[in-house]
Amino acid sequence: MPELPEVETIKRGISDLTGQTIQQTIVRNPKLRYKISPTLNQELIGKKILKISRRAKYLILELSHGFLIIHLGMSGSLKLINHQINPDSNDNTPSAPIQKHDHVDICFNSAILRYNDPRRFGMIMYVDTLENCTLLTHLGPEPLDDKFSANYLIKRLINRKSTIKQLVMDNQIVVGVGNIYACEALFLAKIAPTRSGSNITKTEAALLVNTIKQVLTNAIMLGGSSLRDYKHADGNLGYFQNVHNVYAKTGQQCKVCNTVIKEQRLGQRNSFYCPSCQT
Ligand SMILES: [Zn+2]
Repeated sequence: MPELPEVETIKRGISDLTGQTIQQTIVRNPKLRYKISPTLNQELIGKKILKISRRAKYLILELSHGFLIIHLGMSGSLKLINHQINPDSNDNTPSAPIQKHDHVDICFNSAILRYNDPRRFGMIMYVDTLENCTLLTHLGPEPLDDKFSANYLIKRLINRKSTIKQLVMDNQIVVGVGNIYACEALFLAKIAPTRSGSNITKTEAALLVNTIKQVLTNAIMLGGSSLRDYKHADGNLGYFQNVHNVYAKTGQQCKVCNTVIKEQRLGQRNSFYCPSCQT
């Protein structure tokens, strides 16, 4: 599943589209998580991209009027394909052949932004304004923003009986802390994932805020290093897998203390932790 660092990497990877004007939108299959509006092409055509930003795992393309919101769902990916319109030819078919699950093309003068999604849980939606956009209201702060601080987190944990693991993965508390990052940040903060939120101390909250920022910053940095490959459109972001301490390491020895890493199901997600380092 594309996580926040991948979406951030994609955002940076498509930043060259800023200032470009949408020439055409081709929808081959509208049946994503929310059906793509049949008027999408009319809504986008002729509009210039003013700014590309990210909120949680939503990519937000600010247009000369309105906004295009893209979410990659479980299995979505975006490719930026070089595509030079030949003024001497009427054939503007993109040079890259269309693959299975290439559902949408957003065409510019010199590039195509192509959306592929085998499981079709993603979304592409045009909105006039972001105010009152129900997708974005109720989202907690960005994890790398100063608003996500120890003071903020400890306030949000008061009287919360859920496990700290589930609470840091709750988008209303903080966005974008996926399962991998929650496991890794809790390991670095030496906090057991099963602890109840209300029982986390202020010192621990401060440490956890720092390790969440550290793990995500690291993943974005590693994701960023594969940008060039991404631009070459192979769609693979080989990031972060090699630097896990506990995630998917069940049965292996903890790098710190050699205790065997354990796995436990919490809120339908597998949690990986060191029973000795994390208390
Ligand atoms: Zn350990």
